[in-house]
Amino acid sequence: MFRCHPLLAAAILPIAVSLACGGGTSSKAAAPSSIALASPTPAANLGPPNIVLILADDMGWGDLGSYGNTLIKTPNLDRLATEGVRFTTLYVPAPICAPSRAGLMTGRFPGRTGIPWNPPDRLHDDEIVIAEVLKARGYATGMVGKWHLGWVAEDMPIHHGFDYYYGVPTGEDEADFVLGDQPTRDTVGPDQLARRYTQEALKFITANKDRPFFMYIAHRDPHLPNSPAADFAGRSAGGTYGDTIEMLDATVGDLMKGLKDLGLDQNTLVLFTSDNGPVIPPKGPGSAGPFSGAKGSCEEGGVRVPGIARWPARIRAGRVVSEPVSTLDLFPTFVALAGAALPSRHYDGQDVSKLLTGEVDRIGGLGIDGGREIAFFGQSGAAGLRSGRWKYLRPGLWSGSITLFDLETDPGEQRDLSRERPDLVRQLEDRLQELL
Ligand code: MG
Repeated sequence: MFRCHPLLAAAILPIAVSLACGGGTSSKAAAPSSIALASPTPAANLGPPNIVLILADDMGWGDLGSYGNTLIKTPNLDRLATEGVRFTTLYVPAPICAPSRAGLMTGRFPGRTGIPWNPPDRLHDDEIVIAEVLKARGYATGMVGKWHLGWVAEDMPIHHGFDYYYGVPTGEDEADFVLGDQPTRDTVGPDQLARRYTQEALKFITANKDRPFFMYIAHRDPHLPNSPAADFAGRSAGGTYGDTIEMLDATVGDLMKGLKDLGLDQNTLVLFTSDNGPVIPPKGPGSAGPFSGAKGSCEEGGVRVPGIARWPARIRAGRVVSEPVSTLDLFPTFVALAGAALPSRHYDGQDVSKLLTGEVDRIGGLGIDGGREIAFFGQSGAAGLRSGRWKYLRPGLWSGSITLFDLETDPGEQRDLSRERPDLVRQLEDRLQELL
């Protein structure tokens, strides 16, 4: 039987275990209707799209060329952005691995799922993973890589709607490969994981090319420590970390070539993002771009991640979207794109498919400016709320006191306005309590 990893799990992020942020994102009330653009993208009658979700581990907002990094070369991901849409304000619901992934897979705040923080426990039995809904709709569902949402055989992805799973569930310990829900004797080292995962994903895609498929590729890179393959080691001006990201970028190129060779690249939505922000200097080499904070923090640097989507059949090339969105939105969005029905339960994100395809340029909501409210979750529950231009944070590792920032004039969260605007602090705290 597959072994448990409680000690390993505790070792994955020892610093984060002691963090104390809290909270969640939400759109508990139905959002007002979106604002339509004049000329929506013509819809090709190609049937439901294939969906490939690529998740990097601990990649920061500033780690890609298309997000301003001048040292690390990422031509394949940059091409994905120029051929599709790049989101500048994509949030994860929590700034560390397991709760972020729990939210991604369930569409719900981590605190509702059974995995509120690291080290992870397991998803509640009544949680519904996105693969279950897509599978019921007729999708072939595959996953490779870092699951991180449970450690024993019955917690593996194949028991949460995935037809196929191969990878290291913990992400980091290459001695513990699993196929399905059983250990395998695989000897792939960390330097080859991204390639192996991509190869296995392409095998699954090839085997299911004649039906809709959902492929979730959860890489272990560029999570520290880094082990780039020999043919990438020493190449990047961004050091070993840059080598690793450039290697990961190359696998995206391999994937896109595979999709094109199969004739699938037009009606396949390929979406790339990260589970949380990076480890930044002096502790690590990652970049959060212009933002403050890092992995573990609910400051922008910890929760704002790269987000790139390409789907030529429906997404016009070269768009850049600054509207706030959350990885919690992907569940209802994928459900809508697949033509499936959203299970009747509370979801904390919302369908943003029309924003994705460019049919609207804004998503209405109950925020201060009539737009989205994006909340953040930490070790002890709700941690903060973005509403319009304002970002309110409860005390946490990032600050010993309440803070309030105007992200429009101060995206780097340098000037705390909580004393000048106690009215907003009260309003946002009240709203955060309503949402979670
Ligand atoms: Mg992570």
